[in-house]
This record gives sequence, structure tokens and C-alpha cells, in this order.
Amino acid sequence: MMPFARKPRVAFFDFACCEGCQLSILELDEKLFDLLAHVEVVAWREVMSEISEEYDIAFCEGSITRQQDIERIKTIRDKAEIVVSLGTCASISCHNALKNKWAMNELLALVYSEYGEHIDTIPARPIADVVNVDYQILGCPVSLPEFETVFKRILTRQAYTPSNQPVCVECKRNDILCVHEKGMVCLGPVTRCGCNAICTAFGDACRGCRGLIDDANLEAPVRALFGEKLHPIMAEVARNNRLTGKEIIARFSLYNNTGRVGKGEESSDGTA
Ligand code: SF4
Ligand code: SF4
Ligand code: SF4
Repeated sequence: MMPFARKPRVAFFDFACCEGCQLSILELDEKLFDLLAHVEVVAWREVMSEISEEYDIAFCEGSITRQQDIERIKTIRDKAEIVVSLGTCASISCHNALKNKWAMNELLALVYSEYGEHIDTIPARPIADVVNVDYQILGCPVSLPEFETVFKRILTRQAYTPSNQPVCVECKRNDILCVHEKGMVCLGPVTRCGCNAICTAFGDACRGCRGLIDDANLEAPVRALFGEKLHPIMAEVARNNRLTGKEIIARFSLYNNTGRVGKGEESSDGTA
């Protein structure tokens, strides 16, 4: 790939989401100015009112949830040289895809009553399901150090692939006390790292916001809590939380609904 001949024009776009990833980026404060010095921002609804239809790099946040979103993301793809899926909504659909567990007409009737037929909605999909994406940034919201890294990689024409290691690796690397020891249920063993284990570093459990690692063994955490020979720590976790296997699986499906998680409602050991 050729380096950029001039300052690349950057645009931020949002689809169905809370826009929390874009807001988080603003928390980079002075570092953000350092990054933006290398580009020309031409569209960013969170921070400016001007909008240009000409751009080189498109950061796209949110999921595709309406027919008109499909046309819009295709137009963005046609115009931008580089498309980035920004955050878990854009990359793997996040909470938006919870609605995919029900038939759309049932949901529309439940939420909008007789007005449902006028609502434009389709099953939620990540952006990469509709167009080719050049870079993917996970997280709900995105990790700021990772955003900085990807931004610099884009400007220097280097590839970036999210890590396929679990959050536990970052806990070990940073000497973080495992929250299982405090009796909490943690999804870190099957969740893709890259956030520097920020939740467990502050004493909370990982909720799985960066999505599952490839080939995640979902049976293992359920077996660890409901198997016959429980490790004493896991026995304590199971006692403290009183979760069923189905509830453990439900926790996985909070962020992971476009893969196999969330499609099977029952736990592998049949616990419900
Ligand atoms: S990934 Fe999370 S923080 Fe980002 S837009 Fe979606 S819901 Fe909001
Ligand atoms: S706190 Fe969670 S992510 Fe960290 S080592 Fe324990 S299980 Fe793994
Ligand atoms: S620790 Fe887990 S929930 Fe927290 S930011 Fe990292 S992946 Fe997301």
C-alpha cells in the first residue's frame, strides 16, 4: 500500500448504538489532538456540525439494524479507502443482536403494539457482515490505548489484528488477583483480550465485552462451576452466585449474539 499523499480525511459515522465509543475517544484529551494533527477531520457528529461527503478513512460505530443502514454502509464503503468497525456494536453486534433471538414481528408487536408495522427494523448485524472492513476495534466501549494503536497503524499503513488470547493472559501479565478468588463469575477465560484487563484490574469481573476468542470452549466455564469435581474456589463461586448453567450462558450472550453463543439456550450439562 502507498503512504497517504496528503493528510487523510477522516469521518466518524454511527449506526445503531449508544455512541459511547465515540464519546470515549474524546477522553483521550491532549493525546487526541496529537493524533488528529496528522489527519483532517471532515465529519464527526459528536464534535462538529460540518459534514463532508468526501473522506479517506471512515470510523463506523454501531450495528446494522435497518434496511436503510445497508445502503448507507455500502455508500460509505464505496467512498472510503479504509473502513474501521469501531467498537463491539460495529464489530460483533453487541447488545443490539439480543433482539435476534425473537421473531421481528413478535418484537415489533410487543414494543410498538399496532404501530409496529411502520417500524423499519431487521435482525442486527455487525458492519463486517455487510461490507469489507479493513480494521476492527473491539470493546464496549473501545480501549483508548488500542484505539491509539490502530489509528497509528492506519496512518502508517500497517495491519492490525485483535489479539486472540483471553483476558486471563493480561491478568497474569499485570499481576491482577483473579476475581474468582473473591467469589465472582468471570468471563475472562473465553474473552478476547486487548483492554489490558481493565475491569479485573479494578476488582470487577470481565463481562465479555470484547467478544469470544476463536474456538472458545464455552463448556469449560460451565463445567468448572457445575462439574462433579469442583475446584474449591469454583465451588465457592458457584455457592456465592447461585447461578444456573443457563444463566452463565446468558451472561456470555450479553455481547456475543452473532456467533454460536446465545443460539443454544441450554447449558452443555443440561443445567437450567
Ligand atoms: S460498543 Fe458499547 S459503548 Fe460502543 S457504541 Fe456499542 S454499546 Fe456503546
Ligand atoms: S480475573 Fe477473570 S480474566 Fe483474570 S485471571 Fe481470573 S478468570 Fe481470568
Ligand atoms: S475486562 Fe472484559 S468486560 Fe472489561 S473491558 Fe476487558 S473484555 Fe471488556
